[in-house]
Amino acid sequence: MPEEKFTLLRRFQYSSEAIIYKGKLESQGIEVFLRDITIVDSNPLYSNAVGGIKLFVKTEDVSKASEILNEVSLFSVDDDNNLIKCPKCGAEQVELEISIDGIKSLIKVLIFGAFAIFSTKYKYTCQNCKHEFN
Ligand SMILES: [Zn+2]
Repeated sequence: MPEEKFTLLRRFQYSSEAIIYKGKLESQGIEVFLRDITIVDSNPLYSNAVGGIKLFVKTEDVSKASEILNEVSLFSVDDDNNLIKCPKCGAEQVELEISIDGIKSLIKVLIFGAFAIFSTKYKYTCQNCKHEFN
């Protein structure tokens, strides 16, 4: 990988996260390269050792790509686009627990811009108190 042409944009601990962001960027026409995803997928414990999964974009795309990433929030919203609150502690930092099977459909949803379609098929996890609910 020629260093002068590509820039490291983000690191991810989990391949599911990296794949979601990759799909989002690619849907906006940005070329994305993931490094070390195979290693992390083969054993998630290696993620720390290799410094996570690295997401690279072309240097010329960096500012556009960071703008897109800043717009993407993995925190979940309900049908009215309100952030879902944790029923236990009330925090609005709730993430979907995404199964491997769910990734393909999630990418589709991101591409078609209908993130709120997600509902009870997925388990929610509060990032504040770690409470899990549907
Ligand atoms: Zn909570």
